[in-house]
Amino acid sequence: MPTLRIWGRLLGVHPAVVQAVSFDQTEQAMVVSVRVRSRDRHRCGVCSRRCPRYDAGRGPRRWRALDLGTVRAFVQADAPRVLCGVHGVVVAAVPWARHDVGHTRAFDDTVAWLATTTSRTTVRRLMRIAWPTVGAIITRVRADIDAAVDRLAGLRRIGIDEISYKKGHRYLTVVVDHDTGRLVWAAAGNDKPTLAGFFESLGPDRCARITHVSADAAVWIARTVRRYCPGAIRCADPFHVVKWATDALDRVRRQVWNTARRQPGGTGRDRRGRQASAGTAHTLKRARWALWKNPEDLTEHQRLKLDWIAKTDPRLYRAYLLKEGLRHVFAVGGQAGKEALRRWVSWARRCRIPEFVKLARTIGTELTAIHATLEHGLSNALIESTNTKIRLLTRMAFGFRHPDALISLALLALGGYRPDLPDRTHT
Ligand SMILES: [Zn+2]
Repeated sequence: MPTLRIWGRLLGVHPAVVQAVSFDQTEQAMVVSVRVRSRDRHRCGVCSRRCPRYDAGRGPRRWRALDLGTVRAFVQADAPRVLCGVHGVVVAAVPWARHDVGHTRAFDDTVAWLATTTSRTTVRRLMRIAWPTVGAIITRVRADIDAAVDRLAGLRRIGIDEISYKKGHRYLTVVVDHDTGRLVWAAAGNDKPTLAGFFESLGPDRCARITHVSADAAVWIARTVRRYCPGAIRCADPFHVVKWATDALDRVRRQVWNTARRQPGGTGRDRRGRQASAGTAHTLKRARWALWKNPEDLTEHQRLKLDWIAKTDPRLYRAYLLKEGLRHVFAVGGQAGKEALRRWVSWARRCRIPEFVKLARTIGTELTAIHATLEHGLSNALIESTNTKIRLLTRMAFGFRHPDALISLALLALGGYRPDLPDRTHT
């Protein structure tokens, strides 16, 4: 292979002709000058159709390419404009980069792969780019994948959820496929028009094939689903039902904590008493994790803390058992789950903890939907793990300027069509 062609291979621009290689002292970077082969010349950057040349555009341009060893690298080429019958005057297409962007395709694909597999700091330091640039790159990589695949094909049983991604009530509406565990759709907003957008892109035929829809009890979701999929069975999202219990438990814990904190110690004898209640308040505050976590995930220390709660505050411990009881309902599912739920409701009604008495009532109104979930075996583990993963991504996406970048990250990571690293076909 002639020396110049090796440079093209190294940078992933082998469809082009390498003309020169130099080192830019100012930029401290390798610059590989190339020209487009004649068969790729003068094509519209948007539709790739061959068109007449319009002008030289803004002269030669550089695209950031993958580093060569320790050194940054750029591809340099002319960027003439063409006159497309459909798209007007546009910059001509180049085979090594997406339309009208400053990075090569290999660079973009590497960033997208990294964004779905590693931390924010790693992507930024390794690729030497700013986080908003990562957002722009993953958005165009996702658009490319979207053009090639149909994420909404074959949907039968779906879950709809809203996820807060920013303070100040900014939400995403997300749709997951219960059968594959994939995230299939997401959009900014949490209202009827947003969700209607999903069903509109699904189209009437495919809406009619949806058999089950799980969601929390939000009215806007229920109404929109009824309008587009009147035949579908509405299921309660187990993740949310268990979360109601976790929230109720947390309210009980906070009451107990506040009482312990304010315990008056004024009657002289009681410096020790006051210290003891301050200690109780402190331990209770830190017991939050022990109470929230699933018992199988508890550390030894947290397990001891639970034992301590059982001894010092039976009411709080009862609240904990009620939360776990409800989780158990979804863990067993089916007829056994329904039986367990019936026992749970009668227990919660009589438990004398107002938060759980109220929860028992809420569950009563949602009973049909919860039974549907138990009957049709929608896996809570799957929903819970997708939910957790999306929430982790929203934290990672903090700093993206546009929710599109977060949506792209979520779809690339959880949508089943992961970006691949460049040039891995023969390894
Ligand atoms: Zn065109």
